[in-house]
Amino acid sequence: MSIIERYNAAKASIARAAKDCGRDPASVTLICVTKTFPADDVAPLLEAGHRVFGENRVQEALSKWPALREKYPDIELHLIGPLQSNKTREAVELFDVIESVDREKIAKALSEEIARTGKHPRLFVQVNTGAEPQKAGVLPENADSFLAACRDAYGLKIEGLMCVPPLDQQASPHFALLADIAARNGIAELSMGMSSDFELAIQLGATYVRVGSAIMGERDYPA
Ligand SMILES: *Cc1c(COP(=O)(O)O)cnc(C)c1O
Repeated sequence: MSIIERYNAAKASIARAAKDCGRDPASVTLICVTKTFPADDVAPLLEAGHRVFGENRVQEALSKWPALREKYPDIELHLIGPLQSNKTREAVELFDVIESVDREKIAKALSEEIARTGKHPRLFVQVNTGAEPQKAGVLPENADSFLAACRDAYGLKIEGLMCVPPLDQQASPHFALLADIAARNGIAELSMGMSSDFELAIQLGATYVRVGSAIMGERDYPA
């Protein structure tokens, strides 16, 4: 299958999963995750009218997206990978949504950069729902206080939560936990679900699903 055939299949699966649980398919946005793939592989998706994309590395995104944006100014680019504080400037410049806010140092750097530039990407907080030591994200038990600090100490409006469940576990408890944290903090957007489990994430309330390999094909190297 081509990228476009897989894209159309993913769109159809998303719509079906939404309808199956009584949701409006338009309430779920597909983020095509294009990390490791060159601009040539992204082009057919842009030509087909898709505009929402995800990258997990600032440096890689910088090498790919500014040129594509000249041709397609209405692209919506999501940063879904960890953000280092020394990359905040570039991240605010390039991304429309930063999904990986997860510590005060980043919150502070973002608030300074937003004040300096007046450019305000939408912000999501990443939650490490499985409390995995190697994984980014605020721990679930610290999520409420971190969200309060983002709002009160740094003046940041957090619109969504994001998680990447442990690879070797059922995803549903992690999705449910993320939805819980969002509900009790009055947060509307939930970025959860990847190629292997986006239907499940939609059942549990995902408003954004991040789909890479099911559309782009297998990646040559893990990213
Ligand atoms: C790579 C990546 C995805 C997409 O993963 P697939 O399994 O290829 O769909 C989603 N979210 C994050 C944070 C990623 O790094």
